[in-house]
Amino acid sequence: MSAKLIDGKAIAASVRAKVKEQVAEFTTRTGVRPGLAVILVGEDPASQVYVRNKGKASAEAGFLSRQIDLPVSTSERELLDLVERLDADDTVHGILVQLPLPAHIDEKKIIEAIDPAKDVDGFHPVNAGRLFTGGTSFLPCTPYGILTMLDHENVELKGKHAVVVGRSNIVGKPAAMLLLSRHATVTICHSRTQDLPSVVRSGDVVVAAVGRAEMIRGSWIKPGAVVIDVGMNRNAAGKLCGDVAFEEAREAAGAITPVPGGVGPMTIAMLLQNTYEAAVRRSAGGRR
Ligand code: NDP
Repeated sequence: MSAKLIDGKAIAASVRAKVKEQVAEFTTRTGVRPGLAVILVGEDPASQVYVRNKGKASAEAGFLSRQIDLPVSTSERELLDLVERLDADDTVHGILVQLPLPAHIDEKKIIEAIDPAKDVDGFHPVNAGRLFTGGTSFLPCTPYGILTMLDHENVELKGKHAVVVGRSNIVGKPAAMLLLSRHATVTICHSRTQDLPSVVRSGDVVVAAVGRAEMIRGSWIKPGAVVIDVGMNRNAAGKLCGDVAFEEAREAAGAITPVPGGVGPMTIAMLLQNTYEAAVRRSAGGRR
């Protein structure tokens, strides 16, 4: 039996349409247009594509979209000064610094300079901390997108075993916390995990965020499991693929996300959602 395909493109389109509608209503009511500033340092081609797509999507949603391109020679001090100016700018509700930054700039320092109330990427330690302790935070866009997809598909998480492969601060760890907040029993795997295939085989829900083309094989998937593939890799033939061997895994899984067209489109949709929420909170008088 072949798994149900979870159509991230369609789910993302519906999130974006809803944000657009809410933005129009918010702007009419308050006279405020949510503003998103995206900073790109250097000329990394992949980052240029991501930034362009984010700018396009935010303009389509009705935001005041601002892209700031800086040369690779920009100093850490100059970038910090810019972030501080944007923190103080009332027309900017969301600030996103595209990662990775050039090696001479300390990413942590830059992220920590962003006002947590404008941290629409959800990477600031205040937002990461609130995800761990509860309370209102901005959720990192990719894990937020994963949860939104699972909700859209009515996947029951309570009491289920969720296996997250990968423990990065931007995907694996926050995804695990979100699944835990929905009462899943969560296992986090990484490069030192022993007998990864049998751990993955015990997962009712599997989130793969590794960055290794088709590493997770079909024989690792528990029959009927829900498989969310975050990976964005090139296989030997140069084709875009995920961390899961899709054709094999879809034979065992109950539902699965494709790559492309799965988690990827959700990430931008949730960035828009976060920026809209930032503007709403700011207009309600919320600060940090
Ligand atoms: P990182 O490189 O930061 O983290 C990868 C994780 O995978 C690490 O925790 C690492 O373990 C673990 N890992 C590496 N090799 C193995 C292995 N052989 N067995 C088990 N675990 C292993 O990656 P990211 O979290 O940033 O991204 C993961 C993937 O998701 C990438 O392909 C990336 O391109 C994609 N991505 C996609 C997004 C989207 O919008 N669709 C957004 C963000 C990322 P350890 O900690 O021990 O080193």
